[in-house]
Amino acid sequence: MRTYLDHAATTPLLDCAREAMVAALAHTGNASSLHAAGRAARRRVEESRETIAAALGVTPSEVIFTAGGTEADNLAVKGLWWARTAQDPTRRRVLASRIEHHAVLDPVHWLGEHEGAEVVWLDVDAEGRVDVEQVRAELAAHPGQTALVAVMWANNEVGTVQPITEVAAACAQAGVPLHVDGVQAVGSIPVDAALPATLAISAHKLGGPVGVGALVARRGLELTPLTHGGGQERQVRSGTLDVPAIVGFAAAAERVLGDVVARSAGTAALRDELFGRVLEIAPDSIVNGAVGGLDARLPGNAHVSFPGCESDALLMLLDSAGVEVSMGSACSAGVPEPSHVLLAMGIDPVRARSSLRFSLGHTSTRADVDALVAALPAALARAGRAGQVRISAQMAAAARDGG
Ligand code: PLP
Repeated sequence: MRTYLDHAATTPLLDCAREAMVAALAHTGNASSLHAAGRAARRRVEESRETIAAALGVTPSEVIFTAGGTEADNLAVKGLWWARTAQDPTRRRVLASRIEHHAVLDPVHWLGEHEGAEVVWLDVDAEGRVDVEQVRAELAAHPGQTALVAVMWANNEVGTVQPITEVAAACAQAGVPLHVDGVQAVGSIPVDAALPATLAISAHKLGGPVGVGALVARRGLELTPLTHGGGQERQVRSGTLDVPAIVGFAAAAERVLGDVVARSAGTAALRDELFGRVLEIAPDSIVNGAVGGLDARLPGNAHVSFPGCESDALLMLLDSAGVEVSMGSACSAGVPEPSHVLLAMGIDPVRARSSLRFSLGHTSTRADVDALVAALPAALARAGRAGQVRISAQMAAAARDGG
């Protein structure tokens, strides 16, 4: 029996999504074809679009299907930049929070390096929350020169929920489109999808299949396409639509978005139990991120630093004990790098590299928490020893080198 505590990476496919997909896989038909099989495929796509739009409270024409969250984020960031700078070449500023997922962070960096964007990175506080005053001040200081603002709804590492209502109001007042990465938030907490200009969603984070998602883009909003071809999705996104994946996405979204608040309460209670029991085992451990209800932190997110332990060693030890968790730091070419999110929160690199993320979801039970609590003491003891050995080796090497 293995224990899965990595729902923020991907959450198991819901039965309703699997059943809908299996049924759809039995049918042939390109949704762009004009014959009966094509029209049937198109009908399944449009019914799915209506289901997702209704679950989100937007109109179906505002849902643009993509091949996942990363593509939706790229389409919004680059698509808004190109459309807005084409309208007015003096709009060269991009405001983005320092804690964005790489799906937003990297296209923003790319615009700075290759397109001459003037990027302003928005700071966060010690809990990982964007300062709305900074957004207002930046927009007011350079009226008319901002191409777009990007702030995620909730952070994928520490689970902090951002003040999106206030950020959206500031952007609306300045007439600047706001892109929100809603990949972790949608399905976890109540989200008003009509607030931002664009909202990225990913099916596999809410119980649908991997490799499909959507960009919710307000009607009339201009976006320059990233890919060119058949123009299947509002002339903004080309490529033959993956009908079974879209059908599975719709089934999951309908199920999950229908009872977000009720489900979240149970998940948050289990997460708080996890926090309490981990702190009992490791009294010197430190909780990272915001404390509070659904407007402060994602209900399934627990992020903890274990001083004296390296997160990669802890992860492997827990894995060998059957408990699957995630490192609280990014891994670059096999080397654990301190996470940009934790660094932006002012956490020092050593503590950042000693952090783990435990994330709960729709299959999580108290037995999962029990399994973690059973495996953690031995893992902490061994990872702590490994950490000491590593530090002694580094000190010996430094002494040898005359350092
Ligand atoms: N944005 C956030 C906040 C995420 O957590 C992820 C996935 O981890 C993505 C974007 C990328 O989504 P996808 O895996 O569908 O490409």
